[in-house]
Amino acid sequence: MKKILIIGNSLSAWSVANAFINKKVNITIIGYKYKTFGAQQLSPNGFKALKELTENNEVKKIVHEIIKFQINSYNNNKTKNLKNFYFNEFDLKYFSVSREMLINFLIKNVKRNIQISEINKSCVGFIQRKPGKFEVLMDNNEYITADIIIGCDGVNGITRKYVCGTTKIDKKQVFRGVSDDKKQLLLKQKTLELNFSNYGHFVSYPFINNNKTYINYVFIPNRRFQDSNEILGKLKSISKFSTIEWNKGYFYFFEDEIQTIHRNNILLFGDAGFSFEPHLAQVGNKIIEDANYLKFLVENTNSYDEIFEDFSINTCEKKRKLKSISNIVGMSFGISTLTKLRNNIVSNFSDQLICNFFKKIWYD
Ligand SMILES: Cc1cc2nc3c(=O)[nH]c(=O)nc-3n(C[C@H](O)[C@H](O)[C@H](O)COP(=O)(O)OP(=O)(O)OC[C@H]3O[C@@H](n4cnc5c(N)ncnc54)[C@H](O)[C@@H]3O)c2cc1C
Repeated sequence: MKKILIIGNSLSAWSVANAFINKKVNITIIGYKYKTFGAQQLSPNGFKALKELTENNEVKKIVHEIIKFQINSYNNNKTKNLKNFYFNEFDLKYFSVSREMLINFLIKNVKRNIQISEINKSCVGFIQRKPGKFEVLMDNNEYITADIIIGCDGVNGITRKYVCGTTKIDKKQVFRGVSDDKKQLLLKQKTLELNFSNYGHFVSYPFINNNKTYINYVFIPNRRFQDSNEILGKLKSISKFSTIEWNKGYFYFFEDEIQTIHRNNILLFGDAGFSFEPHLAQVGNKIIEDANYLKFLVENTNSYDEIFEDFSINTCEKKRKLKSISNIVGMSFGISTLTKLRNNIVSNFSDQLICNFFKKIWYD
């Protein structure tokens, strides 16, 4: 029986574990448990991949349908509606999902099918005692061997350094919040909102966590305020955000062109392999899609060298395109000048144009 070692304990780790549900393998997951927070958008490609990956129809029970995409400009506590787009008019199904429920669903699904050992420790390094095969060193100085090691330890994880050497990583400030404010919940039913403001853009949408509805907020400061210490104060001064407790964080992404994501018996997966800016809400969706593609390869290819090579070429190619589109979208969201022109262009977008754009992002 093949021994698979997965480093990390988040979305990627549990998605990739599901890629092996039909194989006779022994999986070990190494990583400290941590509390997940908030929600993520699940676009049609991510939803389809999640259903195929888990082969579990119960997935419908953890998602919350979003029917409207609304773009506004928001300044001086006044909202101006620029554009409304209704997903169902184009037969598109869009969802939100609580991160906690998504990860728990993936965990439960994989444990129903295969044997999993969990080690609540951190990986601190690798050693190569036999040619072509790495072993993992943990923080208690023990080594673990495996036939395959999958690095799901995120952008700043150590696995990437062993596979690719140093990589140039960019980071940007982001604020996240969750609210159960009744008035906002009534206003935002089933709506994904994108608001441009003088300070930055914010995205909000409802999601359900353990039978209770919340709103997930993300605020990304404009380029002008990216390094400002005053931005949190400005954010709090916006009246509709007064009840939200904002958590400051960063999003990280690779600046370099990513060429390879495997070396010997190690494969990089999720943010550890290829991360880009979050403006298309696709990084997490792609993780689920990639896990589903890996599942296909695992079930239809005999050699792991071939699987790694095919997976690396195909998934990186798609994400290179998304990376450049996301970068352009982020720049247009984050401008501080010519905002009137941008808003004018957005309000003149046709529904068909928005639909075509989404389809390109999700299905190309
Ligand atoms: C603001 C924002 C909004 C987003 N919104 C969306 C969205 O709406 N839709 C979407 O599809 N995506 C979204 N994303 C992207 C998505 O959330 C991430 O891509 C995803 O969480 C990455 O998962 P991961 O498991 O690869 O990495 P991470 O979540 O970074 O997890 C890495 C794991 O590895 C563990 N680890 C690290 N080092 C070690 C070690 N040495 N040993 C053992 N374990 C280790 C960590 O503890 C952690 O468990 C968003 C991202 C941001 C920043």
